[in-house]
Amino acid sequence: MAVQTVATDTDTDLSLGPAAALSCRECGERFPLGPVFACEACFGPLEIAYDLPGGDPEELRKRIEAGPDSIWRYAPLLPVPADVADKPNLNPGFTRLVRADNLARELGVTGGLYVKDDSGNPTHSFKDRVVAIAVEAARAFGFTTLSCSSTGNLAGAVGAAAARAGLRSCVFIPHDLEQGKVVMAAVYGGDLVGIEGTYDDVNRFCSELIGDPIGEGWGFVNVNLRPYYAEGSKTLAYEICEQLGWRLPDQLVVPIASGSQLTKIDKGLRELIALGLVEDRPYKIFGAQAEGCSPVARAFKDGHDVVRPVKPDTIAKSLAIGNPADGPYVLDIARRTGGAVEDVNDGEIVDAIKLLARTEGVFAETAGGVTVGVTRKLIEAGVLDPTLTTVVLNTGDGLKTLDAVAPTTGPSAIIRPNLDSFREAGLA
Ligand SMILES: *Cc1c(COP(=O)(O)O)cnc(C)c1O
Repeated sequence: MAVQTVATDTDTDLSLGPAAALSCRECGERFPLGPVFACEACFGPLEIAYDLPGGDPEELRKRIEAGPDSIWRYAPLLPVPADVADKPNLNPGFTRLVRADNLARELGVTGGLYVKDDSGNPTHSFKDRVVAIAVEAARAFGFTTLSCSSTGNLAGAVGAAAARAGLRSCVFIPHDLEQGKVVMAAVYGGDLVGIEGTYDDVNRFCSELIGDPIGEGWGFVNVNLRPYYAEGSKTLAYEICEQLGWRLPDQLVVPIASGSQLTKIDKGLRELIALGLVEDRPYKIFGAQAEGCSPVARAFKDGHDVVRPVKPDTIAKSLAIGNPADGPYVLDIARRTGGAVEDVNDGEIVDAIKLLARTEGVFAETAGGVTVGVTRKLIEAGVLDPTLTTVVLNTGDGLKTLDAVAPTTGPSAIIRPNLDSFREAGLA
């Protein structure tokens, strides 16, 4: 595995807030902060270790509440410089937590059902959170080009963030994505490269690029900046708890692509408990995949620890990662918290998108159809407890995946502009 070391003597003097070091998720070995992502000792993935603020939780809570309406209110818990909010960035996050009473009635949930709606982010997906953190790392390490391998949403988020930060961007996607995602990835003026292959081919290509002189000075947000990037997902956990009145939900339903988001939501929840910001009580995390790409759900159901890669074939393209890097960690978390990993087929995904739209006025992309569909399936199976407080994530905007619902959605009638014509249509 290629390990890039650009920053050298500045490693120990980086102003990335409370970030103290990188630590290996497998062997625990610690390394100085830098643009590295794999352990030199065991090749395990690295993550950020913190010196988190100690002291009075009430004071920290007040400080957060007085902060900006974006992820930067949590800057004291993120690997970013203290003045991060003053730099040109997209200020993502603090998206709405929708109390979904209509959907709850439909699904028979009595304990309180919420949709965390990340379609409200600047480029209309959760990816703005992770990219915002990666940009700060890129700045700290002196990278001049921002890049990524993407299933679609990430490419748009990187393009937009780079444009705003004044960096060059060059992003890579499978060539056959939805038009909404391709256009959004290109419109910000950076370079967009379509690759003839799956996301896993794109990812492999990017790893090659990093090891090549061409990739020098390039920050791949989800490869060599991955430890920083991944931390952005913690903000989903922070926001959900703050919006519930500094309380842990009982159950969360989270989509899985690489599995990074799910593992960092768990990390965020554990941090809030450790800091005394929420009361420590049990929570369960449920993972959601599309049947056409469900290697983690398969492993969970089979009781395996190893996730066997698959070749994706699903309309939920943003989740179509056949070889999810964080798959084994997701299995650990689902099992440790008493959750589960479940999948739904393409028809169920479309039904769930329409169900959420019809009941709550929230138009989700296919990934949101996956989480809502899995929620319904798990309730019907008696796995998810309808008497408990449940938060379902919608991580993207339905306008990006119109193709999924367009064939079965449209006008009730097309009429001439007069009353007779309207009467004839049977809608009066
Ligand atoms: C990227 C993405 C996710 C989750 O990705 P992970 O790789 O599991 O962190 C979820 N939903 C949408 C819409 C995404 O684009």
